[in-house]
Amino acid sequence: MEVAAIGIGNGGCKVVDSFIEVSGETGVEVISDAFALNTAESDLSVVNEIPASKQLLLTSPEMRASGTGNKPELGAELMEQNLTVVKNALASIPHHSTDALLVVAALGGGTGSGGAPVLANELRTWYDIPVFGLGILPSEHGHLEFNAARSFMDFGKTTDNLFVVDNARYLSSSDSIQESYRRINRDIAQKWLTFLNAGEQSEDGAEMYVDAADLFAVLEMGGISVLGFASEAAGSADSGGLIERFRTNGSQIDHNVRTRKLVDTVKAATRNLTMEADLETAEGVSLLVSGPPAALTQQGIEQSRQYLQDLTGAQRVSHGDDPRAGSEELSAAVLFSNVGSAHRVDELKQRGKNAKREIERRRQERAAKRRDMFSDPDDELGSLF
Ligand code: GDP
Repeated sequence: MEVAAIGIGNGGCKVVDSFIEVSGETGVEVISDAFALNTAESDLSVVNEIPASKQLLLTSPEMRASGTGNKPELGAELMEQNLTVVKNALASIPHHSTDALLVVAALGGGTGSGGAPVLANELRTWYDIPVFGLGILPSEHGHLEFNAARSFMDFGKTTDNLFVVDNARYLSSSDSIQESYRRINRDIAQKWLTFLNAGEQSEDGAEMYVDAADLFAVLEMGGISVLGFASEAAGSADSGGLIERFRTNGSQIDHNVRTRKLVDTVKAATRNLTMEADLETAEGVSLLVSGPPAALTQQGIEQSRQYLQDLTGAQRVSHGDDPRAGSEELSAAVLFSNVGSAHRVDELKQRGKNAKREIERRRQERAAKRRDMFSDPDDELGSLF
C-alpha cells in the first residue's frame, strides 16, 4: 500500500522524515509523497529528507512563525487559516500511486495536537481515499497529557483508522531525549514501512504478500490500531544433532523446528506492541511474516494465524508472507485493528482530566495571590484611578 505522509508539528515532521530516511536505506518504496507542516520556522530546520518545497510554514500575519507554545487551540486555528495553502501544496500527490493518506503527529504539544485533527477532517472531504492517522502519545505528564487526550479523541474521530504509538514504551534512561526520539522515530518508520509494504507486489512481481483488499478491509474497521513486531536471526534449523538426524527424518524435524520458530516469533510480536492494548478486543488482525523462504513454512503461518484468531476473537486474520531469498532475519509484523480497550488510553484520559483540574486550581491560586498582593483589606490606601 502506498501512502502520502503528512507530518504536522515537530514530532510528526521528524517521524515522516525518518520514513523517507529508512525508505532510502531499505529500498521499501511505499511513501508516494511526503510533507512537513509546522508553525515554528526553527523546527522545520531539523527536517532533512523532505524537500524544502514540501515543507510548509503555517503562520498568520499576527504570528511570527514561532510555534504554538503547546496550545492546541492555536495549532487548530493556524491549520484552519492555512488550509488553502496546504490544499494547493498537496496537489502534487500522485493520485494513481497513492492508496491512502497518512497524517502523522506527536500528540501533546500545540501544532500537531491541534492541527492534525483539523487537517484529517478536511482531507476526508478533499479525497476519496482513506485518511489514516499516526498518533504518538507523550511520555511526559501534566499539561501535555491534557492536550494529548483531547487531540487523541478528535484525531480518532476524524481518521479512518488511528495507528497509535506510545513514546513511554520506548524510553530508555541511558539515551538523551534527542537520541531517544531518533531511535523511536526510526523504529516507528521501520515497523510501519514493513507493514505498509505488506499489500505491495513482491520483488519478483509474482505474488502479493497480503491481499491488498484484505488489508484495506482490516484497516477500514476503524478505531485505533496497534502494531506488534518481532524479529530474530533466522539461523539454520537445528534438528538436535547428527545422530538423531540419521535415526529420524531430518528434513521433517527441520520443518517442525522452523514452524515452531515462526510461531514463536509471531507470539513475540504480540508482546511487543507500539502501545499496550487489550488484544482480545481487536476486531481485525493482519499478519505479515518475512524472512528466508524456507523459514516461512505453510504450517507455521497457519498455526500463527490460528493463534492470533484465538487470541483476539477476530472473525478473520488476513495474512501473507514476504519470502526474501538470502535474508538472515525472520520477522513478524501484526496489526491489531479496531482495538476496543487499552489501559494506556484510559490512563491518558484520566491523567488528562487530572491535569486539567490542576491547571484550573493553579490558575485560581495565582489569581487569588494577585488579588491579595495588590489589595488592601482595610481599604485605606485607595486606588489611583
Ligand atoms: P508540536 O510541534 O507543538 O506539535 O509538539 P511536539 O511535536 O514538539 O511535541 C509533542 C509531543 O511529541 C511531546 O510529548 C514530545 O515529547 C513528543 N516528541 C517531540 N519530538 C518527537 C520526536 O521526534 N519523536 C517522538 N516520538 N516524539 C516526539
